Amino acid sequence: MSDSSFASLTTLRVGGTPAELIRCTTAEELAETVARLDAAGTDLLIVGGGSNLVVADGQLPLTAVLVANEGIELIDGSLLRVQAGTTWDDVVAYAVERGLGGIETLSGIPGSAGATPVQNVGAYGSEISDVLTRVRLYNRETGADEWVTAESLELAYRYSNLKFTNRAVVLEIELQLEPTELSIPLRHLGGERLPLAEARENVLATRRTKGMVLDAGDHDTWSAGSFFTNPVVPTALADAIDAKVGEAGMPRFAAGDGQEKLSAAWLIERAGFPRGYPGEDAPARLSTKHTLALTNRGNANASDIVALATDVQAGVEKQFGVQLVPEPVWVGF
Ligand SMILES: Cc1cc2nc3c(=O)[nH]c(=O)nc-3n(C[C@H](O)[C@H](O)[C@H](O)COP(=O)(O)OP(=O)(O)OC[C@H]3O[C@@H](n4cnc5c(N)ncnc54)[C@H](O)[C@@H]3O)c2cc1C
Repeated sequence: MSDSSFASLTTLRVGGTPAELIRCTTAEELAETVARLDAAGTDLLIVGGGSNLVVADGQLPLTAVLVANEGIELIDGSLLRVQAGTTWDDVVAYAVERGLGGIETLSGIPGSAGATPVQNVGAYGSEISDVLTRVRLYNRETGADEWVTAESLELAYRYSNLKFTNRAVVLEIELQLEPTELSIPLRHLGGERLPLAEARENVLATRRTKGMVLDAGDHDTWSAGSFFTNPVVPTALADAIDAKVGEAGMPRFAAGDGQEKLSAAWLIERAGFPRGYPGEDAPARLSTKHTLALTNRGNANASDIVALATDVQAGVEKQFGVQLVPEPVWVGF
């Protein structure tokens, strides 16, 4: 596996080799590189930590631009200005060490700070949109290097208008945090608030039990995190699924306009795909700790991951009439 292959650049550890890999260590270099490649009409892919990417096998006719500008600046005591290539969890650790609250529940999410607005990362009831104030973008349509408001990104559940559009590159982000001793309410602890550092440790420990903290020695973490978003369906369909399964306590949450959000993991399990599916010898399996993560057991190719994803999608659709939508960004398929 070459260092520039996507198997090396992504947490799923699958994927072929780009025509070229360019590492950018400053925001200016990142903007200039993308401007130059765009002007030349070169296909490119922005790569942060590679934790939300599924890239095809083989030679890929694109240039990978690695976001590697790092740094955290504390402004006026509670505003963080962060370079896009900074490891996200280092930002959380930095904030917690300084008694700044608001992102402790986002501890342990892999990847870069610059990618957090792309799909409005979230966990345990909070999202980056709760604290994100501004983003410095290189706008690939106009060539402008500009600070824009968080509102202009239309952040929603695992969505922003940056995702799947490639319209802009995040160069820096700004987060408004709050000086505090106690964490924000922890949803998985019934809303309890813990001292900041304890809250971070609690979230990390909880995530580890689900294979949701990267660990090279644990194949359950060779994933792209949750592989499917939680589907939003008409209430009538939610009722039909509830009646069909006939179990008390199907997870369902009002999502407005006669729609409800269901749990993708619950549907996958009820459609006959248990943790660890399809079994020990398969190169790609559902995580043994978390049904929603598709994992590489050490020698999977992208095609193995795609085959498993297609199998699960088809099973859930056949059983319940729900189309699961992948959360990661697919490249080269
Ligand atoms: C074990 C595990 C657990 C996870 N848990 C969570 C979770 O709890 N919550 C959650 O929301 N996500 C989770 N994820 C998904 C993933 O970590 C996040 O989506 C993360 O923000 C991706 O960051 P990245 O730097 O790795 O992005 P990449 O995978 O490198 O890129 C993802 C997409 O963003 C684009 N992109 C990256 N950087 C930039 C930039 N600077 N400007 C413009 N576009 C850019 C890429 O082109 C690509 O389209 C998890 C993933 C794993 C592997």
